[in-house]
Amino acid sequence: MVDVQNDFCPGGALAVPHGDETVPLVNRLSENFRNVVLTQDWHPAGHLSFASAHAGRSPYDTIAMPYGPQLLWPDHCVQNTAGAAFHSGLQIPHAGLILRKGLDRTIDSYSAFYENDRTTATGLTGYLRERGITRVFLAGLALDFCVRYSAEDAVREGFAVVVIEDACRGIDVQGSIAATRSSFAALRVACIAAAAISVTRAA
Ligand SMILES: [Zn+2]
Repeated sequence: MVDVQNDFCPGGALAVPHGDETVPLVNRLSENFRNVVLTQDWHPAGHLSFASAHAGRSPYDTIAMPYGPQLLWPDHCVQNTAGAAFHSGLQIPHAGLILRKGLDRTIDSYSAFYENDRTTATGLTGYLRERGITRVFLAGLALDFCVRYSAEDAVREGFAVVVIEDACRGIDVQGSIAATRSSFAALRVACIAAAAISVTRAA
């Protein structure tokens, strides 16, 4: 369950339109899963993905970082702020791991598996492998960034990947939703509706 946090919901610093609508769905979905991981975007103040950290830059500008192009965002999900907290409606008490990401001030981290340099691992692959997990289901925010990158990396790590599409919401910056759809198609990431889950009997 990717980044279901206040700043990504309406009223938050980097609101994903209708982001809060994922909350009841992910709550219900999670009841079908024994192994649940929550990810939490968790930046230090002054994180270099924030436009405010770069003189003369605005949110949604793209700059060159040592690891490649970086889209700049409004300040969001700063450690220990209300915006970084999970949405208050999120009720997944049996989640076994809360994986925080974006802690390095100099590298953004969309994916649950790798930071945006795509080489610094978060350790999630090892966590899942040691628990014998071979298939990953993804839901949450935002479809075209953190869910997308997580799905792509999960494929790269050899997991079967399913995105529960109606339990995600997107931002759609510079055609990012369309790019996400073509990437998922190319990688054969399965996209399903939440209603399909109870019959899938996920591990
Ligand atoms: Zn972030």
